[in-house]
Amino acid sequence: TSHLSETDPELLNSVTGELERQQGQIELIASENIVSRAVLEVQGSVLTNKYAEGYPGRRYYQGCHHVDVAENLAIERAKKLFDAGFVNVQPHSGAQANGAVMLALAKPGDTIMGMSLDAGGHLTHGAAPALSGKWFNAVQYGVRREDAQIDYDQVAEMALEHKPSIIIAGGSAYPRVIDFKRFREIADSVDALLMVDMAHFAGLVAGGVHPNPLEYADVVTTTTHKTLRGPRGGMILTNREDISKKINSAVFPGLQGGPLMHVIAAKAVAFGEALRPEFKEYAAQVVKNAKVLADKLKANGFDIVSGGTDTHVVLVDLRPKGLTGKAADEALERAHMTCNKNGVPFDPEKPFITSGIRLGTPAGTTRGFGEEEFGQIADMITEVLDGLAANPENNDAAEAVARDKVAALCARFPIYSELG
Ligand code: PLP
Repeated sequence: TSHLSETDPELLNSVTGELERQQGQIELIASENIVSRAVLEVQGSVLTNKYAEGYPGRRYYQGCHHVDVAENLAIERAKKLFDAGFVNVQPHSGAQANGAVMLALAKPGDTIMGMSLDAGGHLTHGAAPALSGKWFNAVQYGVRREDAQIDYDQVAEMALEHKPSIIIAGGSAYPRVIDFKRFREIADSVDALLMVDMAHFAGLVAGGVHPNPLEYADVVTTTTHKTLRGPRGGMILTNREDISKKINSAVFPGLQGGPLMHVIAAKAVAFGEALRPEFKEYAAQVVKNAKVLADKLKANGFDIVSGGTDTHVVLVDLRPKGLTGKAADEALERAHMTCNKNGVPFDPEKPFITSGIRLGTPAGTTRGFGEEEFGQIADMITEVLDGLAANPENNDAAEAVARDKVAALCARFPIYSELG
């Protein structure tokens, strides 16, 4: 940041402010993580200057031999990590990865079937405001009212009725392990392709604490920045050679131009980190921490959607406390615990208000929090939200107490100390 201080102090303020925020707040957003210094370093490297349209060894530009090394490392490491025959590491984001799969394997007007947004699915799985919802005939399955879990019988019936060409499994706020085998059977029953979007739980798969969807899916997409703890970006994996060729053409030249070589190199670094034994311990700890968080919040009077979690995600239903997601995530931010409001299944509130908050353990676990700390975090959340429920007009006292506790906890588990 020393160069910025001379050339652009205004922008520097944004960077230092964000660094301090990350250092001093407890990050509970389930889709975020804290990357290593090595990942940061590569993203800020000269690789950002390079155009490299095409693929390693087959570029449309000269001077690509060094970035080819980076992309090949990313590919080889991802293959090893996920036991995949083919990987495309070029998608700029998870949304781009999903778009590329649709471009590769479906035509506009085709029927696609994914989990609905309000049940925990993602926009790119056919939600009405998204490209996937506008260009395809998107039908959406949900979860059961009783237990907020996927109703596989409903999925099977809907598949029979609508005959989708692609069935999508995976979501952004679904805390349970998905039965990929069952999805495979359903897809086979109607001759559909099965796409699994493992964006959220990819790091758990890499760490060996979650089933690998590649065993059953025709194609798997992911982001690289959530549990996987890499740079922001996307990736597509498959074991089918016929599909791999279509995917490559769909990513480039179908959807994207020049790949972000600094990001691809940072993906290689993160995959290298994920191949080390410590990452297995990390992934296991992420899940243990999430269970503690869910159990403690439940004991403190919150409803946990689906009754618990198998992953890093805890979806909290605030209705027993009479609170909305919007009021709760704002109060928690004032107390320096960052999360996001989130709809719960069959939520009576509008998407900008919601009845829930989504919490996650990946970032806190990276900074070293274990079960004891996540138990304390559950209590701090409870103090803030019980305070808010008791006194919606003025919760300053409870928030101030929590802020001090957060500061003490963050000081015990520092991050990016050398950065200032
Ligand atoms: N797929 C799932 C399941 C996600 O949760 C997300 C991120 O929110 C995406 C795709 C999109 O990823 P990105 O934000 O990188 O476009």
